[in-house]
Amino acid sequence: MNISTVGIVGAGTMGNGIAQACAVSGIRVVMVDIAQAAVDKGLATIGKSLDRLVAKDKISEADKAAALGRIQGSTNYDDLKAAQLVIEAATENHALKNKILAQLDALLAPEVIIATNTSSISITQLAAVTQRPERFVGMHFFNPVPMMALVEIIRGLQTSDATHDAVKALALKLGKSPITVKNAPGFVVNRILVPMINEAFFVLAEGLATPEDIDAGMRLGCNHPIGPLALADMVGLDVCLAVMEVYLEQFGDSKYRPCPLLREYVAAGHLGRKTGRGVYSYA
Ligand code: NAD
Repeated sequence: MNISTVGIVGAGTMGNGIAQACAVSGIRVVMVDIAQAAVDKGLATIGKSLDRLVAKDKISEADKAAALGRIQGSTNYDDLKAAQLVIEAATENHALKNKILAQLDALLAPEVIIATNTSSISITQLAAVTQRPERFVGMHFFNPVPMMALVEIIRGLQTSDATHDAVKALALKLGKSPITVKNAPGFVVNRILVPMINEAFFVLAEGLATPEDIDAGMRLGCNHPIGPLALADMVGLDVCLAVMEVYLEQFGDSKYRPCPLLREYVAAGHLGRKTGRGVYSYA
């Protein structure tokens, strides 16, 4: 299947990043959000991001203009009918995604592929909201999309080989390095990453080392660009805790028990960079 136009639902952090990655790679984009202000904000973010690439001589002014010319912002779902693939990148809320996906399924021609960028909701469950579960797939991009090479392609129980192959080919066209994953909580990367962060909190709680030394250990010993505790502060301690709670509930395995110290920080409102204080202080 040749994908020349991609529809994107949601013009936020991920939606506008995916739009930029597509447009820079020569693909036309229709990016839809609920309010014109959200669409305009998404388009402005893309403009600024492309400006930075021009300043770094990664692309020319003409490339930037051509990329922007390929993106149509809209508040009208009907404009998505031009796409062969629609990627849902709206707010992470299960009921909202169910509603959007049912709406897309009713609107789009049957051969159109629908993908979701969800971080945590079951692809098989979301596929079941549509009448096209074989043409439904997870495309989990990483933030910031224009910089990050990975796309997890998640197969729901009924995702067809043709659908998988089509979105994998698209990811390669965007210059990404896709990996294929079966549907399960956390997929691959977050399934490994978040329990590692949780374990760092256990190590801290046991007083084995200072936060600085724990982070230095993982940076210098494992070549991680950032230590797990500093990363937790960036992601948000509340987000890390919520993810562990989901794993504990969905796998029913005590190995996903959230560290009590992580709970304590969250209870105290020390959520990381966004509150000025997490494991570290950002005053
Ligand atoms: P965001 O809050 O930045 O953007 C969400 C956008 O969706 C908003 O602009 C909002 O107005 C819009 N929206 C809400 N309801 C809508 C509707 N009915 N129709 C159209 N647009 C609607 O969120 P985000 O960080 O871009 O996350 C989007 C998705 O990507 C989520 O599922 C999230 O879990 C996933 N994700 C996020 C990250 C990340 O680091 N931010 C990484 C990977 C995946």
